[in-house]
Amino acid sequence: SCTANGVADALRAAAAVIAEHRVELIELDRAIGDGDHGENMNRGFVAIVSSLDTAVPETPGAVLKLAATTLISKVGGAAGPLYGTAFLRASTVVGTGSELDTAAVVAGLRAALEGVQARGKAVEGDKTMVDALLAAVAAAEQAAGAEGVDIAGVLTAAADGAAKGAESTVDMVARKGRASYLGERSAGHLDPGARSTALLLGSLARAAR
Ligand code: ADP
Ligand code: MG
Ligand code: MG
Repeated sequence: SCTANGVADALRAAAAVIAEHRVELIELDRAIGDGDHGENMNRGFVAIVSSLDTAVPETPGAVLKLAATTLISKVGGAAGPLYGTAFLRASTVVGTGSELDTAAVVAGLRAALEGVQARGKAVEGDKTMVDALLAAVAAAEQAAGAEGVDIAGVLTAAADGAAKGAESTVDMVARKGRASYLGERSAGHLDPGARSTALLLGSLARAAR
């Protein structure tokens, strides 16, 4: 299981990974968008860490909610509200208990996906973060079906799924977001939001191990 401090440490690990990949995300977004995705994500996660350094909320759900409100208020563009909604839906579905179990993590991932889809209306194949999240949730739910799987096991499956889902966006033509303005010329490039989703889930999985 995982406490509020465990979730806070995982978010700090995620912030470090986003900072490390800031330039990569900028370059991916420069190819098919406006080149700000790395800066947007880094600004948001720096702000999350700074809030956590002030005080870690009492429950895992409250930590996720703090992440959500920070992303919504500090990150502009498409990704801020979308990731903000993802964390907000996850925070709601995990409830107010003092620890997360495996089932709560799986439910949180599914709620995050559903929040992003409700907000952004992207479906599979539109070349967005949804392609990474859909594959992550499918892999997490499959992993959770096995006997004795723990949170690290579920998040590792989610991260592997997200990496494959992100990779699958390379060949896609964008139908949502700025990249869709390029039409066919968006093909041949990795979607920046799908890449950041894979990075985030990878960092959360490593933090849980
Ligand atoms: P902006 O495009 O406003 O500059 P960012 O560069 O921070 O915002 O984020 C771009 C990413 O947001 C895209 O790579 C894509 O993954 C994601 N995105 C854009 N629109 C949508 C949408 N409607 N649904 C899901 N994801 C989206
Ligand atoms: Mg952008
Ligand atoms: Mg922008």
